[in-house]
Amino acid sequence: MLEEKNNMTQNHETRQQTRLAVLTSGGDAPGMNSTVRAVVRTALSYGAEVYAIYEGYQGMVDGGDYIRRMNWESVGGILQRGGTVIGTARSAAFRTPEGRRKAAKNLLIHDIDRLVVIGGDGSLTGAHILRQEWPQIVTDLIAQGEIPAEVGNRHPHLGIVGLVASIDNDFFGTDMTIGADTALHRIVDAVDAISSTAASHQRTFVVKVMGRNCGYLALMGAIATGADWVLIPENPPKGLDWEKHMVERLQKGRKAGRRDSIVIMAEGACDQDGNPIGSSYVRQVLEEGLQEEVRVTVLGHVQRGGRPSAFDRNLGTRLGYAAVQYLLESYRPKDEPQVVGLRGNRVVTTPLMDCVKQTQAVAQQIAQHNYDQAMKLRGSSFSESFDTFLTLIRAEPRPLPKGEKRARIAVLNAGAPAPGMNTAIRAAVRLCLDQGHEVLGVRNGITGLIAGTIQPLEWMSVNGWTTSGGSELGTNRYVPDGTDFYAMARNIEEHNIQGLLIVGGWSGYEAAYRMLQERKHFPAFDIPIVCLPASIDNNLPGSELSIGADTALNNIVGAVDKIKQSAVAARRCFVVEVMGRYCGYLALMSGMATGAERVYLHEEGITLRDLQQDIEDITHDFQSGKRLGLIIRNENANAVYTTPVISALFEEEGRGLFVVRQAILGHLQQGGDPSPFDRIQATRMARYCVTYLLDHIKEHDAQSAFIGMQGKEILFHNLEDFPRMVDEAHQRPRQQWWMEMRPIARQMAKPDMQ
Ligand code: ADP
Repeated sequence: MLEEKNNMTQNHETRQQTRLAVLTSGGDAPGMNSTVRAVVRTALSYGAEVYAIYEGYQGMVDGGDYIRRMNWESVGGILQRGGTVIGTARSAAFRTPEGRRKAAKNLLIHDIDRLVVIGGDGSLTGAHILRQEWPQIVTDLIAQGEIPAEVGNRHPHLGIVGLVASIDNDFFGTDMTIGADTALHRIVDAVDAISSTAASHQRTFVVKVMGRNCGYLALMGAIATGADWVLIPENPPKGLDWEKHMVERLQKGRKAGRRDSIVIMAEGACDQDGNPIGSSYVRQVLEEGLQEEVRVTVLGHVQRGGRPSAFDRNLGTRLGYAAVQYLLESYRPKDEPQVVGLRGNRVVTTPLMDCVKQTQAVAQQIAQHNYDQAMKLRGSSFSESFDTFLTLIRAEPRPLPKGEKRARIAVLNAGAPAPGMNTAIRAAVRLCLDQGHEVLGVRNGITGLIAGTIQPLEWMSVNGWTTSGGSELGTNRYVPDGTDFYAMARNIEEHNIQGLLIVGGWSGYEAAYRMLQERKHFPAFDIPIVCLPASIDNNLPGSELSIGADTALNNIVGAVDKIKQSAVAARRCFVVEVMGRYCGYLALMSGMATGAERVYLHEEGITLRDLQQDIEDITHDFQSGKRLGLIIRNENANAVYTTPVISALFEEEGRGLFVVRQAILGHLQQGGDPSPFDRIQATRMARYCVTYLLDHIKEHDAQSAFIGMQGKEILFHNLEDFPRMVDEAHQRPRQQWWMEMRPIARQMAKPDMQ
């Protein structure tokens, strides 16, 4: 004991830096590793000492080798790994005062008084309790001679930040928990696979997903896969004969031409009286009602596992960075523990216990069968998603309500193909038909509007479009000019088009704007036009994210993960070129998600001096034992320093030390099935666009707009503002919110302050 005490005193004499520790606790979640990496690297960049506590609170209670000092390399190569490399556990000991006393002492031994806890509400509650007890524990430890007084006096308070990692997305204080997006990826992949086999045999499947008190995964999974029915704990099926209603809905779908039927249920699904609904019960009901074989798939732990999605990697990185920034810059000793989370696309800080209480309130409302209240607590976008889902699953459109005039809208795709375009069109078509209106599909983008390839779309014409990539309607980058307008105007008149939805990228926006300019010549253009952003480049004004960008990002990250694996045996430096035209979104975000050393963006340009410095840095890293280098370059970062030029420069300078390989990723970035996020947002935005068009048609108001996501909100911008909001020469918005992540990407890549 005395020796330990002496050591502790000595430690303080030699090391005066702030020390913080990070741990992962409770259920594991993909993205925990990027969070740990960000905490460690940010702390090191601040000049702080940082420790990892292995095996969650149990490691804190046991101390010794479970608490390890981390350096830059300790967290290298972990971004793409699922789970948590520092281990997690459930600790009964930490639930006891004695256990927490031991844990506090172990922190004091290492001079740690700031903690980043990554876990669910249990783990964060535990952290809160430890912080409350801390002053008393310190006093007791001093009084009982277990720690020197000066050590205790130096650490009178414990500073805590909680980061929520949970696949369920069941926590207040953050719109997305770390791991939920990846879990949705697993669910969507599995349900897509199940749908194809179900369609082959005309079968019905019941898929059970995680979520005891939270239907997020089930509901979003159902929207993203175009499932036929969903059962969630917050909103149990209504009416005594819900089973009959479910069977009828599925029967109608079959009659209308669907070959597969999918029911998605959360594990906490229950009826209005709170009685659990089991998957075997659902199967039995469906087998009896449909008179066919029904299969059940319980997805289980696959939902937790595997490579984290690009979103989860970057979410973890942003939150880990912000947590340390808070603890080292803004934290005051008496501050309540905080949760650092995401609101919209912004990082926010909220008192931890408020979040825990609100989170538990939903569970309590469910337990008391106050389902309206539970839905309200989940927030408006959750309820809105549920409504949208109910409309989309209807097998047939509803008749036009009496006294209402039937509207006729046209939908088209424009610009390069973006995954999610079909999802948006399907949702728009069904949401419009559902209200008794008519929809026309224009083939091959604006050229179709010129050529008159326009046909009515029925409920079943868009069946299965939720999940398919590319553009079923056809799309191209044509921007109308000259006599095109005359042809377009004639077709609009001939087909009696009263409103136009353009789901597409830059050229679609430009075409819409030009139509606006041509109104003085062609009165046919006096109709409301609305643009829905769909472009993998994420270069559209008024929307922080466009449909397709998330899928492209995941495509890039998947490819780069493989490229990195291919290089483990040799000393290699990869120069990877990604799309984006003049917008660096994909380059920066994929660089962050894959741990690239350098990212070259057109927004920042490339100078010879930068290149020289970068070559020196990377050469130095290889000399110190580095085995793999990764550089990501936006396709238009610089007209002279092209990917082959940069590769050649690195190759020449790195001769003998490493070899350089270039990879121009090309069209794989545009392809593939849309990611869950793109499917969900496409559906959400389509709903807003349809409402916009129908309202404006009713009011005879031709005001036109483009829609966008600003954080969680969905907003419209007047189409007249298009030129004011963009850098026309480079076809990108003037303000690009994501550039604020630039310093984070840089700091994660380079140990400059060590
Ligand atoms: P999650 O953090 O994923 O919700 P748990 O609820 O299992 O997971 O909590 C993880 C760990 O956090 C527990 O094993 C325990 O050590 C600690 N913990 C949870 N709740 C408390 C509590 N009320 N008091 C002290 N420690 C707690």
